[in-house]
Parts: sequence; structure tokens; C-alpha cells
Amino acid sequence: MSSSAGAVLLHEFFDHQWPGWRDRIAIDIPPGPARPDRARATYGDLAARSQAVTSRLDGLIDDECVVAVLLPRASVDAFAAPLGIMRAGAAYISLDPAFPDDRIKDILLDSAAVAVVTDPAGADRLARLGVAADRIIDTQSLRPCEHPDAPGIRPRAWLSPSSLAYLIYTSGTTGRPKGVMIEHRAIVNLVRSDREEFRLAQADRVGQGSSHAYDSSLEEIWLAFAAGATLVVMTDDVARAGPDLVSWLERERVTVLCPPPTLLRATGRREADGLLPAMHLLYVGGEALTEDVVKVWAPGRRLVNGYGPTECAVTSVRTDIALGAPVTIGRAIPNVGAHILNDRLEELPDGEIGELCLSGAALGRGYRNDPALTAVKFPAHPVHGRVYRTGDLARRNADGTITCLGRLDSQVKIRGYRVELDEIDARIAHCPGVRAAATALQLQGGRQTLVAFIVPQSAGSPPDLASIRAQLAASLPGHMVPGHFVLTQELPTTVGGKVDRKALPVARIDAGTDATSRPQSELEHRIEQALRRITDQTRPISTDANFFHDVGGDSLLAAELITALRDDPQTARLTVRDAYEAPTIAQLARRAAAMVSADTAQPVIAPRQRAGQPAIATLIQVAWLILELLLVAGTAGVAVVNVWPWAVRHATPLEIAFGLPILSVLVLLAYLPLSVCIAVVIKRLVIGRYAPGRAPVWGRLYIRHWVVCQAVRLVPWRLLEGTVFQLAALRALGARIGARVHIH
Ligand code: AMP
Repeated sequence: MSSSAGAVLLHEFFDHQWPGWRDRIAIDIPPGPARPDRARATYGDLAARSQAVTSRLDGLIDDECVVAVLLPRASVDAFAAPLGIMRAGAAYISLDPAFPDDRIKDILLDSAAVAVVTDPAGADRLARLGVAADRIIDTQSLRPCEHPDAPGIRPRAWLSPSSLAYLIYTSGTTGRPKGVMIEHRAIVNLVRSDREEFRLAQADRVGQGSSHAYDSSLEEIWLAFAAGATLVVMTDDVARAGPDLVSWLERERVTVLCPPPTLLRATGRREADGLLPAMHLLYVGGEALTEDVVKVWAPGRRLVNGYGPTECAVTSVRTDIALGAPVTIGRAIPNVGAHILNDRLEELPDGEIGELCLSGAALGRGYRNDPALTAVKFPAHPVHGRVYRTGDLARRNADGTITCLGRLDSQVKIRGYRVELDEIDARIAHCPGVRAAATALQLQGGRQTLVAFIVPQSAGSPPDLASIRAQLAASLPGHMVPGHFVLTQELPTTVGGKVDRKALPVARIDAGTDATSRPQSELEHRIEQALRRITDQTRPISTDANFFHDVGGDSLLAAELITALRDDPQTARLTVRDAYEAPTIAQLARRAAAMVSADTAQPVIAPRQRAGQPAIATLIQVAWLILELLLVAGTAGVAVVNVWPWAVRHATPLEIAFGLPILSVLVLLAYLPLSVCIAVVIKRLVIGRYAPGRAPVWGRLYIRHWVVCQAVRLVPWRLLEGTVFQLAALRALGARIGARVHIH
């Protein structure tokens, strides 16, 4: 079997190596709201499923073309299909099922996809959108190939390093997304350099949190696939879990994570040293890395800042980040050039600010069906050859590293997603009753929020803002729908007559002050206070104002709100998912109240107990330890003083030799249920039921909890591991374990 060193096509990193990893787990999909069971696929499974896609496409593809994939991230086929498509000789494009219908239709049309690989739900949706049945490939109808490593795959003669590997659609200034075409050689160059740089092991578990419709997913996937490591799928629910993300990562033993900095900020952690001991690499990118994130997340692990536009195969420039050192994006990866040029594409000296332009192996082919834009963005440079103009302002430092300093144009980043504000403006301008619109990213309540300023067609009959929001939601991904809409009589313009976004006023957002929807209960009041605090509102927020539509909230606001509510035992069990499902103060308060009353027992952990008393706590601990010693010593004493002499008197040495092991087993068998019963009784008497909250060290609750832990430690858990008795014991101790869950 040849090694991956010879891979010149992206899928060859997989095809050349998977037989050596056949039984290793390639994809691990933990249970979540979308699927109750954990799903796993080995490298062998992935080869079999991807080969089924290749075989199905056989005969359909005889030259470069595009095949789309419309599958949820939490499915093995979402990873198998791109491999199968590339092996069949086509390029792939992944569509996110969360995209609105219009966007999916636009992309299918522009990419001229010859087929779409999907599941039954996707097949129904595509049929509704008018996609011909013979272009829809339902993965449920494919039988995994039984001998994926058997020879028989016809080599695709037309495939070469300059063949198209994938297409990614990014926000476009014209109001339509634009398709970036990436060839195998560009992405192969990145995968090779990642292998060299990070040297992941087969034991690594790489978090896969990015939508497959964006290129950051490619680096996550190939960090794992090129090393025989495991990809751990983080669904959107997990990625936006805010404060609960950390415990999820811990539980799933994720060792490598590639998040945008916003995701780390949303965990609400002020310190992360000592957290997530298994995680050795945090490879952030997609948006500017800020000092606050570095301060919290650099200690305790390797932190790398990766920079790169979709047009240059994910990451082109990167560096390790050290605590206290200035944040830069570092240097270009091998075979890639990074240059600071002026608007005539002339090289600027170190320290001067210019446009960051990239050259070399990373460069994409250009934009699908848009040669004019391709020519503008990928001009020829007299020295560096073809370059990509990133639109990013940057300077080269004396040590050769590069510092990013913002944008030359109106492109912005929202939670790591790239957004052309012109695209949103163009969509709004198409809505009835709108004369013109301009969108800006503004700081509202300490958070970046999209605000759309709309000039009505006629001042007397302003357009319905709710209907504009609905129209945008039907055609744009969620992160591109503005959080606030403001009616205005005119838009500020530059001397040249273009809209001057920088001169737009900062909108004063009012989330509703209707007296009838003021907080009615203590719980509503607390939630309203927390929401006002994190959104910086001085005026009351209506209890029926929608967090997302009326308060301008997003996943970050939801995470911040839930983090703030964790300090209060009455609201401590709410999760980010609750904020989505119950998106008003009144609804969230009802949910929190229902959770509290479901806990019949009094919450044993009070928010602010009196300070702990170390002396009393130590006395109790010493008493417990003496009691344990007395019990052990007493039992040993009885055995030595009574049982042993009695045995010597009444049994022969042979009987003792045979009887002793049997007796030990019997004693152990009796001790096992007895120890569980003792632990359960002590736990119920001393604690009752656990409830979330905070408790001071050496306080009453601390010591009661300590006693329960000691009692639980008396159980010989190793003997119970992986059995139904373990589940029964844990449930008796109060653990909530689902009916179909098995712990092993
Ligand atoms: P995308 O094509 O979605 O990957 O977005 C590329 C753009 O994101 C770049 O042109 C930058 O404006 C921004 N970007 C990506 N990574 C970084 C980073 N590490 N630091 C600053 N900006 C970044």
C-alpha cells in the first residue's frame, strides 16, 4: 500500500491509508437532540460507504463536473459522500440542510450540479424544489461496498492536481452567493503542511464543529483523516451550547479543536488553565483573535492562530500564539507567499500598511461563472505570478510575521461567518416598499449585531419590518439576517454618492417597554434583569419580546444569558437550547419554574450559604475516617481471633486451601450489594437529591457531599463495570440514565 506522501489528490490521503486503519473509528457522532444513539463508523465502514457512492456515480461522470451533497453533519454519509464523489472524478459541494430553500436552489443552479447525494428527507425537499428525480441519489438506497479495497475502481483519466476538488459558496456583493473553485493541488498542499506541522496521532479526537458548507470544515476533517484519527461530530446544538460546551468536550475527550474565537468567548470562561486536560491543540481561525480569548485559552495547551480566505484553501498563514506576546497571524505555510502590496500591487516595506495578497500553491481557480470578478480578485503580479487580493489590511513586522488590521471593504465576520453587507442590502432592496437599505455591524449591548437601515419607498406607508425579516430568513442563512431594523428617511453618502456605512448612526435599540408585559413574577424579574445587564439596556425589556427578533439576539447572546442565569439555583438548569425553544422572558421563566418544581426535593445547594467552618468539617471527616478504620480493624480482628482458629480446629489444611477462595468469593458477593445499599441509604439520608448551585468549601453541603463520596467509594465499582448492575446502582444513587443507554 502506498503512503499518503504520494497523495496528489485530496481523497488519496484517505484511499492510500485507510486499509491500515480499517478498524479504527473514523467518525464518532455522540447522541444529541437530533439522534438519541451514538453512531460510529470505522475507516473500513467509511471506505465501504464512500465506495458505494463512487459506484453509483460510475457512468454518470466522464469529465470534470460537480456533484452536490445535502446531508446533516450528524450522519456518516455526510463524510463518505465527498470522498466517493472525488474518487468518481467529480468535484463536490456541500449544502447545509439549515440553508433556506432559495439559497439551495441558487447554489444548485449556479454550480450546475449533475446530481445531489442526500437522505430521504433531503430527497423530498429537493423534489419539492423541482430537482429531477434522476439527479437525486438517496444514500438509503446505496448498499455499502463489501470489498472496498478490491481492485476494480476505474482510474479517472481526467483527474490531475489541477482538477476541481470542491466548491464553496460565500457571501457575494451582488446579492447572490459566489462559488469559489478549489483545485486538488491547493487543498493537498494544506493537508500536507498540516500533517507536518501538527503531527496528530491515531489516538487524537478532532472536534468537527463547522458546517460542511464552509471551508473550515475541510481542515477539521482532513486533520483527522490524514492521520487515522477520530472525528468527533459537534452538531450545531453542541457548537452553540455556550457554557455547556466545555463539559461536552471533556466528556467526549476531544484533543484537537478548531473553533472561531467567538465560540470560545461564548463559553463564558474567565479562566481555562487546567480545564480540558486532554485537549492539546486549539487551532483558532476564521476571524480576528483577540487578547481576551488568548488570555483565557492560551495557558495549558498549544494555541495556533490560522488565517486564510476560502479562495486560498482554508488556511494560508498561521502561527503559534504565546500568552503576553502580540497577536499576529504569523507566516505563510510552505509553498505559499504572503505579500503586503499597495493598490498598484507594489511591494510595501515592513511596517507599512497595505493589502495582504497571497500567491503560490494555495490559490483557488477563481469564481464559478464569474470571470470578470476572478480577474479582479486574482490579478497577475509581475514578480509573484498570480496573486489573490484578500481585501485585508495588514503589515509585516520586523520579525517577518504579519499583523491583520481589518478590511478594505464592507465584508464583515459574524461569529466566524463571512458576510458581504452588500448582499444583505441587495436582498432588502428587493422587498416591497423599500427604496434603499444599508446594513452595518454595530456594537449593541457589548455585542456585534447586524442593524439594517431602511429607506421606505413612500414615507406615508412604511414597509412591514416583520415581513422583511421573514423574506430575508427565507433566502439567507440565519447569521445574515439582521438583528434589528431601523426606518430612516435617507442614508448618508460619500462625496462620490455611494452609501457611507461608517456614517450610519449607532441605532438606539428599544426592546419594548409595554407596561402590560413588565415582569409579573420574581423569576421573570430575575431573567429580565440578567438580559438587561448583558444587553446594556437601561429601559425595561418586555417579557414577551423575542430574544432573537426583538432584542437582536444571536447564539452568543443566548449563551451569555444562560451563563448569567447559572448563578441562580432557580434558573441554573436552563440550557442554551431552552433559550431557543422558549425565546421570551415569560416563556423562559415558565420553563425554569417547571424544572424547579419537577425537583420535588428542596434544592440542597443554596446560592449563598454561610461561609464554611473548616474546624467542624475536619472533625466530621476525622470521625468518619476513624469509623472506617474501626470497621476494617474490627472485621479483620474477628477474622483473625475467631474465624481462623475455628477453621483450623474444624477443617483440614486441604479443606482450608480449597474453602478459603470460595469463602472470599461468597463474602465479596455479599459485600457488593451491601455496599451499594449502604451508599444509597447514606446518600438519601445525607443529601436527598442533588440540585445545581454553588456551595462554600467546608460548608454544610460540602461536608455532606464528602461523606456521600466516601460511602460511594466503598462500592467495588470495577467489579460492576459494564454490567446492568452498574446502571441499577447508579440509578439508585440518583443518576438520570436514559432507558436505552449503556455505560461501558
Ligand atoms: P473565509 O473566506 O470565510 O475564511 O473568510 C476569510 C476572511 O476572514 C479573511 O479575509 C479575514 O478577513 C478573516 N480572517 C480569517 N482568519 C482570520 C484571522 N486569524 N485573523 C483575522 N482575520 C481573519
